[in-house]
Amino acid sequence: MTSAWELEKLCAQIMDKHIKYFTDLLGAENIITDDQKLAWARDYTKAYTINPRFVVFPQTTIQVSEIVKYCNTHKIAIVPSGGRTGLSGGAVATEGEIVVSTRRMTKVFEINSIEKTIHVQAGVVTKDLQKKALENNLYFPVDFASSGSSHIGGNIATNAGGIKVIRYGLTRAWVLGLQAVLADGTILDMNNACLKNNTGYDLKELFIGSEGTLGIITEALIKLTTPPNDLVVSLLAAPSLEKVLELFSLSQSMKLPLTAYEFFTQFGLLRVQEHTELQNPFEKLYPFYALVETEKTGDDHDKKLEAFIEKALEEGLVVDGVQAQNSQQAKDFWGLRENISESISAIEVAHKNDISLPLSKLAIFCSELETLIKTQYPGFEVVLFGHIGDGNLHVNYIKPKDMDKTEFYKFAHHADEAMFSLVKKYGGSVSAEHGIGLVKKDFLHYTRSPEEIRTMKLIKKALDPNSIMNPGKIF
Ligand SMILES: Cc1cc2nc3c(=O)[nH]c(=O)nc-3n(C[C@H](O)[C@H](O)[C@H](O)COP(=O)(O)OP(=O)(O)OC[C@H]3O[C@@H](n4cnc5c(N)ncnc54)[C@H](O)[C@@H]3O)c2cc1C
Repeated sequence: MTSAWELEKLCAQIMDKHIKYFTDLLGAENIITDDQKLAWARDYTKAYTINPRFVVFPQTTIQVSEIVKYCNTHKIAIVPSGGRTGLSGGAVATEGEIVVSTRRMTKVFEINSIEKTIHVQAGVVTKDLQKKALENNLYFPVDFASSGSSHIGGNIATNAGGIKVIRYGLTRAWVLGLQAVLADGTILDMNNACLKNNTGYDLKELFIGSEGTLGIITEALIKLTTPPNDLVVSLLAAPSLEKVLELFSLSQSMKLPLTAYEFFTQFGLLRVQEHTELQNPFEKLYPFYALVETEKTGDDHDKKLEAFIEKALEEGLVVDGVQAQNSQQAKDFWGLRENISESISAIEVAHKNDISLPLSKLAIFCSELETLIKTQYPGFEVVLFGHIGDGNLHVNYIKPKDMDKTEFYKFAHHADEAMFSLVKKYGGSVSAEHGIGLVKKDFLHYTRSPEEIRTMKLIKKALDPNSIMNPGKIF
């Protein structure tokens, strides 16, 4: 019988063999085996115990293919990793996986002004892609607070949303072609540069939102558009959430050229003020705020916006309002919204959630949620903000001061179950834009039917029979 000591020695030899293979393949500078690897093996969630085998940084698709082939042969699990800004525990290695980071896959191959496309490697940072597009008088509209760190590959793998979805849609709408490496190392080029290509299954769609469970995205051909005209940012104070929603309906009926419609509460504003240099632009505090961004599309834009605000004031939907007078002020107003998540995390112990509901059900859902939390989880503060024009709410529970952290997270998990039952009741989704990862895998069935989940598992099995691609995520 093999002794524990012999087993340990054997494991160390096998590990050395793997490390030698990857060092030879990628060079010593493209592999991290010491404790620094921990930082590369987690995303923005902090709840998991991290345990990666090591981290590798390929630079080419061929290298990714060789890495994956080797892992498949040796049945070693892989965690694909981008900018690690994910909020669902997707790019998290907890079981001795090898982390494959796209950090050094940052090539921009071509930007085509006629086709309005950009061909990039998966590790290009979202903000850099946006900048590159603008330098060529083009525009990539997927945007959110973490776009300075997230990668385009991560955006595609999570089908990221953000602040401009109401006008431009999710990441899916901007992916024209995709290259991915399958679990057996096959390099799959999907679609070409054609907008129209009805020739069988559209395989690239499978990889969008697949959270690294079907393959590693290595390159993408991204659609771009023309930059918007000047944008006007208004911050409107509302007396209740219902009024924020009615205000949105009014903006639709008055055909306001919206590019964003976001909301937050007094709690969020106060935390941002505490954590950043940003100031409250109003003389006093209000319970709810709507950030309304419009595009100057025609000569009548200003008149339209003015008429909208007048009507909103008349109808009591809005009690106060300010309009950004210059680009710095517009940035500051956006800062009040975009810094909420980070400010709450810096000041409070919070449990975050991202859900969506049909717009018509948002008000009743929020009111029932409030009652539920008040009665069953007394002491929990519920903080809401988000892309409300898309029916997307970020729900944060804040830990009561006198509650132990572990106990709080346990309660929060229970509170999630109760909340997701409400989400289900009103036909919503347990994850609007952050994905499932580890965080929500227990709750997938609240939004997806058993038949859907079974079909997803069949696809996973067909493409990754050894389950080496981000195993344990989603299912
Ligand atoms: C402050 C803040 C604000 C945010 N706001 C928003 C928002 O408004 N809207 C929104 O949608 N998200 C938001 N997010 C979440 C996050 O930024 C997005 O999910 C983003 O798309 C993740 O990209 P990433 O490169 O950081 O991916 P990572 O976190 O590295 O990975 C995310 C998932 O994708 C997989 N993956 C990464 N790269 C690849 C690849 N090349 N091939 C295959 N799989 C891959 C990983 O395995 C993981 O499952 C926010 C996050 C923060 C911290």
